[in-house]
Amino acid sequence: MVIQIFNTLKREKEPFVPMEEGKVKMYVCGPTVYNYIHIGNSRPVIIYDTVRKYLQYRGYEVTFVSNFTDVDDKIIKAANELGEDVSELTERFINAYFADVEALGCSKADAHPRVTDHMNEIIDFIKVLEEKGYAYESQGDVYYRTRKFEGYGKLSHQSVDDLKVGARIETGEKKEDALDFALWKAAKPGEIFWESPWGQGRPGWHIECSVMAREILGDTIDIHAGGQDLTFPHHENEIAQSEAMTGKTFARYWMHNGYINIDNEKMSKSLGNFILVNDIRQQIDPQVLRFFMLSVQYRHPINYSIDLVEQAEAGLERIRTSYANVMHRLNATADLGDQHDIWLHKIEEVKGQFTTAMDDDFNTANGIAAVFELSKLANTYLLEKQTAEQVLKQFLTIFDELMGVLGISLQQEKEILDEEIDALIEERNQARKNRDFARADEIRDQLKDMNIILEDTAQGIRWRRG
Ligand SMILES: [Zn+2]
Repeated sequence: MVIQIFNTLKREKEPFVPMEEGKVKMYVCGPTVYNYIHIGNSRPVIIYDTVRKYLQYRGYEVTFVSNFTDVDDKIIKAANELGEDVSELTERFINAYFADVEALGCSKADAHPRVTDHMNEIIDFIKVLEEKGYAYESQGDVYYRTRKFEGYGKLSHQSVDDLKVGARIETGEKKEDALDFALWKAAKPGEIFWESPWGQGRPGWHIECSVMAREILGDTIDIHAGGQDLTFPHHENEIAQSEAMTGKTFARYWMHNGYINIDNEKMSKSLGNFILVNDIRQQIDPQVLRFFMLSVQYRHPINYSIDLVEQAEAGLERIRTSYANVMHRLNATADLGDQHDIWLHKIEEVKGQFTTAMDDDFNTANGIAAVFELSKLANTYLLEKQTAEQVLKQFLTIFDELMGVLGISLQQEKEILDEEIDALIEERNQARKNRDFARADEIRDQLKDMNIILEDTAQGIRWRRG
């Protein structure tokens, strides 16, 4: 099966065939670093990290790049307000970003380029656009001549004339046409600046991604991704800049994720419903947050509410419980020859369901449904009087594999808990031996509260989670 990706450029699902066999070049627009990220910002990070993990699972070698915008109007404003250097402020929030997304189970990109490290390349890129007639200087600013680029509007499926209606020239802008956008902005007095052929200034936002994607990944990339709100104008402008520069296709597959709502309302400063990842992950297990985010296919909007997060938590707990029970049963296995091979086949089928779901435009909602199937299957298997080590191990392997693609670990704390439970059972056995039935009953109740079920078997007392 070939992976299908919904390509915004074509507005349909297409089979994914990378330029070079077995290799994927992927670029995801990263944050502007002047504050902590909110949960809306975390959605694309989690989604495209999962896309990356799935591509790797399917055997692709993925080069994954995500940038930091570390100079722009909002950053300068925030730095002024806090009386902090721009570079100090951005360094602080880049570190905060890494701490947040790492907690959410996201791997570091192969490169996290920063705008301020690529100033020369940005200037050179703009110079070429100017030489080719796609850019013009106007009183220290440089603008992109939008109408000159033939394919403008192809990503957002709008014609230049449609766009013309909504466009206007802001006061202070010195453009030929309302559709033109800034590649370089002259510095205002007191602002941070870089020297350039057009005087002191700094780059516009869109040019950064065109330059950094090309520097690291080359003229053409396989997958370019970001939030739906970036389709226009940001990604449309990236295409115009890059394709005018190289004469080649900039990105072959464009992926865009849907919005997040909070309690069915748009997240906005005025509604006061901004939720920072840094705050919420102190209250909710970040693995639960990730599981929740992946419970909806990425192109759909997702609604965040405490109820829905609690549902996700209960769901993840069910999977963890099955996993822990299978793990625990490894202590008491029988040699059953090939009698239980049918179960290996059933496990393989569920794995196939997962792959089918993920191949279909990374449908994590259906992928998670497959993991629940695996969990149900494991619970049924554990009802067998005797269990085979090979089958139990295969359950664990596939749980780890599938949940690993989703970026969630099932191991960790449960193993420590197992030891605690074993210790309690041992203490109960001792108490019974010493005829201290009060203590034995106390422990039995305690285990019952922890939802642990004790079973007397030929191999001694065995326990499982209820
Ligand atoms: Zn970008």
